[in-house]
Amino acid sequence: MTLTRDRAHAIADSLSPNGLAFIDGKFTDAQHGATFDTINPATATLVAKVAHCSAADVDRAVEAARRAFTSGTWSRCAPEDRKAVLLKLAQLVRDNADELAVLESIDSGKTLTDCLNEIGREVPNFFQWYAELADKSFGKVAPTGENALALIVKEPAGVVGLVLPWNFPLLMAAWKMAPALAAGCSVLVKPAEQTPLSVLRLATLAQEAGIPDGVLNVLPGLGETTGQAIGRHRDIDIVSFTGSTEVGGYFLRYAGESNLKVVGLEMGGKSPFIILDDADLSDDLIEHAAMSAFWNGGQNCSANMRQLVDRTLADDFAERVTARAQAFVVGDPLDPATHIGAMVTQEHQARVMGYIQTGTREGARLLAGGEASGPGCFISPAVFSGVNPGMTIAREEIFGPVLGIVPVGGMDEALRIACDTDYGLHATVFTRDIDRAIHMARRLPCGTVSVNGFSEGDIKTPFGGYKRSGSLARDNGTEAVDQYVQTKTIWISTRLPGNA
Ligand code: NDP
Repeated sequence: MTLTRDRAHAIADSLSPNGLAFIDGKFTDAQHGATFDTINPATATLVAKVAHCSAADVDRAVEAARRAFTSGTWSRCAPEDRKAVLLKLAQLVRDNADELAVLESIDSGKTLTDCLNEIGREVPNFFQWYAELADKSFGKVAPTGENALALIVKEPAGVVGLVLPWNFPLLMAAWKMAPALAAGCSVLVKPAEQTPLSVLRLATLAQEAGIPDGVLNVLPGLGETTGQAIGRHRDIDIVSFTGSTEVGGYFLRYAGESNLKVVGLEMGGKSPFIILDDADLSDDLIEHAAMSAFWNGGQNCSANMRQLVDRTLADDFAERVTARAQAFVVGDPLDPATHIGAMVTQEHQARVMGYIQTGTREGARLLAGGEASGPGCFISPAVFSGVNPGMTIAREEIFGPVLGIVPVGGMDEALRIACDTDYGLHATVFTRDIDRAIHMARRLPCGTVSVNGFSEGDIKTPFGGYKRSGSLARDNGTEAVDQYVQTKTIWISTRLPGNA
């Protein structure tokens, strides 16, 4: 059932969010009692003071995680036992979805509608899906002669650091925690400093579900301290990171300068939304174009902000997508009538507004939106036409509601411009010609191509990026589990009668 605005505000008023770190099964202050503030970007008010974990806190959590891993209570228990606990966690998330969604909304500025959709449906489904996979994943037997039996088995990789962004706080936690825990790893989660609260609340549910002490640790803090301490820790085996390309690069450096831990990266994008000349400019297409750019206020790594539209359709498209953008309601994230909530922080709002000014200065035409309002961090969805592929707003990841229409002359030019980027996360193609759709899908160097609809895929399909959008690691699908397991060969020599 959808929450009403009044009910959502009542829940928000009744919350007293926990800002303590969760280490070895206990909520605790950071060493020396250091804290930082988390602010509601829709109201510019304090939500909670949160423990700022230091390198010493990371040490404590890694010791607990390693102890738990070595003990085998989780890492070596029967997969069906891990499954039972994770299924219980999925149900607890469903049971507490309203409270979690309101908490996440006031912490992040995301709309309640999006938070309910993610937390009421997607997050528990992730725990459920990987729980179900845990006791259905088989190893292999290699083809040897009769003098050996060779088993190829997967084992949990050890202690894993999960470093999260702020745009989908609990969903990104679930994307990484569910396969890592299902595989049998012990984990340290570092939520983004802007949005730590829903993940901390999840820790209480995980404990209630039966995750043993030390297997899950949540370490709020700032990137340069807590995040870096995780990246440089010599007893963490793997880091899985989602965030900016710049910080993804830091994690490779941290690994190189510490223990060569494996680093999985999911980073930024500048994804194209391509409309070929034979596409049907239906209401459905316009809806996909608008949602691909403005969903979550454009704060989405796979947002399709470069809309490459065949010149023959560009004017009509611009008029209709502008009208659609103007119909988005921007405002109180807790109101179910709102489509776009607040940008995550004032700094981020200013950064996005800077791009809008740059777009105008460099000669693109602002057709609608692009206005900031306060005291919260709001921006109305901006549509630019006449965008040139060399302009800043066509090249850099803005991470806000700024759609740019780039007119193109045919499929080959669309493909060339689409590929001319450092990123490679996602692309959408609209065409009625199946051969052109397949051609484009095969040639676009990115992790996901969606045809005749904007989609990131779903839980069953791997998600990640080519080029500077990612490493070979993938979230989601059975591929996600590969990030958290080691492959072992067990070679058993046999002495068969008459074969010595
Ligand atoms: P960051 O990459 O800075 O942050 C992602 C995570 O890394 C956070 O947990 C952050 O901690 C941590 N981190 C930051 N600096 C360091 C560091 N020096 N060492 C270790 N960990 C660190 O993303 P931002 O949140 O600042 O967003 C900046 C831009 O990144 C966005 O505007 C967008 O372009 C892109 N981005 C892409 C995302 C994606 O989904 N691919 C998601 C989020 C951002 P803390 O928050 O405490 O600093």
